Amino acid sequence: MAKHTENHCSFCGRSESEAGQLVQGLNGLICSDCNASVTSIFEELRRESRNPKSIDTLDVPTPQAIKDYLDQYVIGQDEAKRVLAVAVYNHYKRIRYFDQQQKNTPANSKKNPMKEGAVEIDKSNIIIVGETGTGKTLMARTIARMLNVPFAIADATTLTEAGYVGDDVENVLVRLLQAADYDVHAAERGIVFIDEIDKIARKSDNPSITRDVSGEGVQQAMLKLLEGAVVNVPPQGGRKHPEQKMIAVDTRNILFLSGGAFDGIERNIASRLKSNIIGYGGSKTRESIEKHNMLQYIEPMDLKKFGLIPELVGRFPVLTFLHPLDREALRRILTEPRNALVKQYQELFRIDGVSLTFDNEALDVVVDKAIESHLGARGLRGIMERLMMDFMFDLPTLKKESELVITKEIAESKLA
Ligand code: ADP
Repeated sequence: MAKHTENHCSFCGRSESEAGQLVQGLNGLICSDCNASVTSIFEELRRESRNPKSIDTLDVPTPQAIKDYLDQYVIGQDEAKRVLAVAVYNHYKRIRYFDQQQKNTPANSKKNPMKEGAVEIDKSNIIIVGETGTGKTLMARTIARMLNVPFAIADATTLTEAGYVGDDVENVLVRLLQAADYDVHAAERGIVFIDEIDKIARKSDNPSITRDVSGEGVQQAMLKLLEGAVVNVPPQGGRKHPEQKMIAVDTRNILFLSGGAFDGIERNIASRLKSNIIGYGGSKTRESIEKHNMLQYIEPMDLKKFGLIPELVGRFPVLTFLHPLDREALRRILTEPRNALVKQYQELFRIDGVSLTFDNEALDVVVDKAIESHLGARGLRGIMERLMMDFMFDLPTLKKESELVITKEIAESKLA
């Protein structure tokens, strides 16, 4: 059957009906998605060609530029992106301001580098509340990549207060130093993401008489890092030994992001909201509150009620939330981000000379499975791996220039 010939984007190969209008060049065509990708690749190359370690000379991108960058990798979550973009912008502006003040202070001066009378701008550490697999780590990582600053992830559940089995909180900084190749100055301007901060909540919001190792003690120990202090770090991590030489790291300009699912916090929020609206709209207002994602109404007091100590909550002045990912979001995550899973598999197959496409219905099957798994977008990767396993096994022996189309039937049978 003769096929109607359509123009195709010379970069992604999609047809005009799939990719929208194409722009003609001398020897090819480009769609608007590829144009956007190419533009940001050039931006990234330009950024990389600068000294990667020096934030001082780096132009701090505007909140809009930060959000635009996030949009390329993270689907949805607009409120959180805007909040993060502003916080990160302010943070790096604050660092420049701080550096300027420091430059004007003689090196041997013992005085605080901030000029007398200068306004000291507070740090904007951030807590992101959202279900697992909704993009908390992805956002933190993406921002660090954009700014080209050292980035480390720590898991709050592995931390203990000094003297107990587990990681001392200083080990968070060891990872950051490692990410900075032990360039202390760079590490001191890096970003640390502390995951599962909700897991170190104390069990009730009454201050305990006997401190519990896993919760409150760790929170107390973390305060030191967050408020900005010079912390002595054992260079190789692990326990401090008296004979080990320590590296002094000033945490004043390190941006701390932390994330947690805070399971059940919706109930705290709901009960706070309900007690606030008694006497107002009555059941109708109440109903409309219940229908919404409760997290959007989150306030610092809800974190306290959940079991974070007030001092810790106070050191995270920026609080934002992520929406649970619905079908549509999961579907977009499969195909839209710069390094979307579908694009990654297509690339893997392209390297072996095989053109890989997925029918829309096949992707719907993948999304169904992800929803069943309750792992958010994190489930997608494992499902795609299962779906593609046999094909990848046979890939090197497939005929070059061949085409592989994953249909609904294939998806169903591989994922049964
Ligand atoms: P968490 O919220 O638990 O930190 P992650 O950020 O680690 O979740 O997300 C897990 C994986 O799921 C990421 O590697 C990413 O590929 C994908 N993902 C999650 N949320 C999104 C999103 N909003 N947009 C694009 N990809 C996402």
